[in-house]
Amino acid sequence: MTIPYVPVIELGPCPIGAYRAGSGGPEYVTTYDSGKPGPHVMINALTHGNEVCGAHALCFLFENNVRPVRGKLTLSFANVAAYLRFDPSLPFDSRFVDEDFNRVWDPAVLDGASDSVELTRARELRPLIDTVDLLLDLHSTSLPNAPMLLAGTTSQGLELARAIGYPAQVVIDAGHASGKRMRDYERFGDPQSPQASLLVECGQHFEKSAAAVAIETALRFLDHCDMAGPSIQELLPSGTPARQIVTHITEVVAIDSENFAFEREFEGFEIIAQSGTLYARDGDTEYRTPYDNCVMVMPAYDIQPGLTAVRLGRIVE
Ligand SMILES: [Zn+2]
Repeated sequence: MTIPYVPVIELGPCPIGAYRAGSGGPEYVTTYDSGKPGPHVMINALTHGNEVCGAHALCFLFENNVRPVRGKLTLSFANVAAYLRFDPSLPFDSRFVDEDFNRVWDPAVLDGASDSVELTRARELRPLIDTVDLLLDLHSTSLPNAPMLLAGTTSQGLELARAIGYPAQVVIDAGHASGKRMRDYERFGDPQSPQASLLVECGQHFEKSAAAVAIETALRFLDHCDMAGPSIQELLPSGTPARQIVTHITEVVAIDSENFAFEREFEGFEIIAQSGTLYARDGDTEYRTPYDNCVMVMPAYDIQPGLTAVRLGRIVE
């Protein structure tokens, strides 16, 4: 039995109507072409409609006239249909309209016969995504969590995470069995490909700090890609980011029944020193850590059978 998590809404949606026309292609998608050789870099917000921090970050980049000095820069608001339905009394409901936009990025699904608001939008964005070399996808979490980069399992994802150097937690994760994320679409999930993508979780959806994390991650990403020239230094927060910790997810623990209960409260990134430590029970079933220094990543607050209880990981660097 859990108490439903009721967040305080410090951070709500920001107006994005000014960016609807974009650059003449899909609505709410703006591509700036420097006219010089270089990569196509994309920052995407609102893959999930209620993850408003990404919209704040893009508005910050627009308002500060961040433009590419080489290659092309695309700033995209993805699931706008869901975002525009945001209702502060039901703040989790605008994650999507028909289905999760971040589970449809499999060519077989995109080319398939089914249809939804999200598939229509994904099909509209797909030709553009096919030309992107480096992608940063801005997200936030339902529960309070330390900000983290989800680097996927390709070496280029991890290299990009290390090169950006922010935020401090980097997680090597295999993605979702329930459908492919944009981050793992085609070339982004191919270890042989030079293209790379990252997903950043900027903290809880409605915390003010999530917007600051999204902005800083976007700026450090652009700085690393050498996209915005020296003027970006004026926008970057001062100080050096904390040293990164890379955790490799080895196991995703599912909730089998509503009797599942953690032995204590976890906030995420706790390290359990001793292998075999009991961390949860479900009736007679005991859940114990499989190795020493086991990291608890994104523990669930809402115990619902079928959902993920926690991811277990090892610190690798
Ligand atoms: Zn998300």
